[in-house]
Amino acid sequence: MKDYSGGVSDLFDSQLKEWDLARDNYRQLDNVKVRKVFFAEFEIAVQFNPGRITSSAAKVDAQSIEARPCFLCEKNRPAQQRGIRFEQGYTILINPFPIFRRHLTIVCDTHTDQRIAGNFLTMLGMAEALPEYVIFYNGPQCGASAPDHLHFQAGNKGFLLIEDDFRNKGLCRKVEVDQGTELWSWQKYGRGIMTLRGSDKGALAEAFGNFYARFALTQPERPEPMLNILASYSDNMWIIHVIPRKLHRPACYFAEGNDRILLSPASVDIGGVLITPREEDFIKITSADISAIFMQVCLNEKEIMLLTEDILL
Ligand SMILES: [Zn+2]
Repeated sequence: MKDYSGGVSDLFDSQLKEWDLARDNYRQLDNVKVRKVFFAEFEIAVQFNPGRITSSAAKVDAQSIEARPCFLCEKNRPAQQRGIRFEQGYTILINPFPIFRRHLTIVCDTHTDQRIAGNFLTMLGMAEALPEYVIFYNGPQCGASAPDHLHFQAGNKGFLLIEDDFRNKGLCRKVEVDQGTELWSWQKYGRGIMTLRGSDKGALAEAFGNFYARFALTQPERPEPMLNILASYSDNMWIIHVIPRKLHRPACYFAEGNDRILLSPASVDIGGVLITPREEDFIKITSADISAIFMQVCLNEKEIMLLTEDILL
């Protein structure tokens, strides 16, 4: 796999020179407020990022999606936005509404539904081609603001807290190995995650496929079971965090008055960096709120255990 790091770095340089909106928004990141919320075994970062309001509050019901021009289709993209070709019919773009210092959207060249089935290996290829990034996928009903146009995102490594948490033996440990492919299990993390690690792409895809098939049985009415996925690559190994979901948005998203917290959790949030587009939420959110949000939208550790049993066989 070709390394795209250099090309992407050049793309950033030129886009930040030529595209005022992107330059301003990346500059704004310097002023973004972040605070830590402490739990017994881990921390969560909360980022106040007003630029993300469009994404967090996006209407993703079929009618609203139908009514708007797709912002990921080439013909509707801003004139200043340029991209670089990626293999298998994808284009790498700078995300003009960043959370990360380096934030990419990797867009399929055809307008086709957001689905992970059939595209998981492509995602692993992206992680390999962009070793300085974590690649993430938000399912069509749990975080993607363009559920009708297949895409991934990527953010620079060293930002999501889950990266370090994975190396914390008190939180995550290896529970099963089959021919070099590993299943890891999380404890005391407040949100259920299945983690796979290995160097054999095909074996990882098979393990993911086993999980997907099982999990899909629990959500038969959906076009795909609700999933967020984070994948990264280093030292010839992929690390893949699969986050099965049971709810798109927590109760506090729909509450009124002081009970409202406008937070629409997806890969980045569950990866340890909660995005609050409103300052009042940034100020008031507590560890109890965050625990409640995770409990509502994610599976618990026991449910993950049942779903992952013998997943590598
Ligand atoms: Zn489109």
